Amino acid sequence: MSALLDSLLTRIARTGPMTLAEFMTESLLHPKHGYYTTRDPLGASGDFTTAPEISQMFGELLGLWLAQVWMDQGAPAPFLLAELGPGRGTLMADVLRATRAVPGFHDAARLHLVEVSPALRTKQAEALTGHQVSFHDHLADLPDGPIFLLANEFFDALPVRQFQRGKTGWHERMIGAEDGRLIWGLGPESAFEMLEDRLADRTEGQIVEVNTPALPLAEDIGRRIATHGGAALIVDYGAAVSHGDTFQALKAHKPVDPLTCPGEADLTAHVAFAPLAKAAAPARASAPTPQGVFLERLGITARAQALATRLSGPALDSHIAAHRRLTHGQEMGTLFKVMSLTPPDAALPPGLDP
Ligand code: SAH
Repeated sequence: MSALLDSLLTRIARTGPMTLAEFMTESLLHPKHGYYTTRDPLGASGDFTTAPEISQMFGELLGLWLAQVWMDQGAPAPFLLAELGPGRGTLMADVLRATRAVPGFHDAARLHLVEVSPALRTKQAEALTGHQVSFHDHLADLPDGPIFLLANEFFDALPVRQFQRGKTGWHERMIGAEDGRLIWGLGPESAFEMLEDRLADRTEGQIVEVNTPALPLAEDIGRRIATHGGAALIVDYGAAVSHGDTFQALKAHKPVDPLTCPGEADLTAHVAFAPLAKAAAPARASAPTPQGVFLERLGITARAQALATRLSGPALDSHIAAHRRLTHGQEMGTLFKVMSLTPPDAALPPGLDP
């Protein structure tokens, strides 16, 4: 039995069933056996891949977006160039390469990365060799100042709670134990205040998810942007509000049963963007805009064609496949959404729906 499964069973025997959020926190961030604590899970040989790992075009376009918004706000200097959950550091490296020629941008940028994984911090430092980087455990630890922030596939890795609609209230979905295995169960029916507005649109038996840690984070980002200026771009799979069970475990690019191998699979849930937008007020939130639409508006096809002139054979084929993967409706183009946060009085930034 894995050491983490053992420790989860012991904990349940001692204190009873745990919420899904507690299970996710232990599985992903346990100091010794947590999924993110112990490994670099990205890429073809890992468990999942992400947009910046698929093509350099993603980070280049996001970099130019940041530079444009920075200039539109009068090029504040210095400013925090921040990222939540930077993975292998690929996105930030592409952002920095794409913005090298933007006058004053690099001189003014102070790099701040929020990352819990020691294994990935090492990769990030390598990817950003030559740049001065400050690492943080929490967004709250960053200094104040104008902030330009990216978060790609970060919010989906945060722990969610799940609730099943009962007759007049909600049952929280819990994880308990039976015969040395983890099993799903339901807590007693109760009125959860944060879900009052969801009683009307859910019927008995339907599930909603609540990403509890995402809300104070969105609030902090919104406060920083509204007070000091700046912008955030949040990219993730999801929709405006939570509809049902989207909790999933991926191992070697395939779905697995999340309860059988804690600490060995990537655990995610789709992001509900409307609650983030609400929490970030008074900062102005765009609509969650489909990633494919956003990247097309920023000119990904022109960039793809320019890069294609230098490629041939298998490299050209994989470049064309990467463009399709990032933008096509049946790949990442529609399921992934992009939402910006900007100061309350700023114009809507490029590429986004109002
Ligand atoms: N943005 C990267 C990686 C996405 S994977 C990319 O697009 O490739 C999720 C990232 O968030 C990893 O770097 C992981 O270690 C980090 N992470 C997960 N939970 C976190 C938490 N609670 N606080 C800070 N970083 C976290």
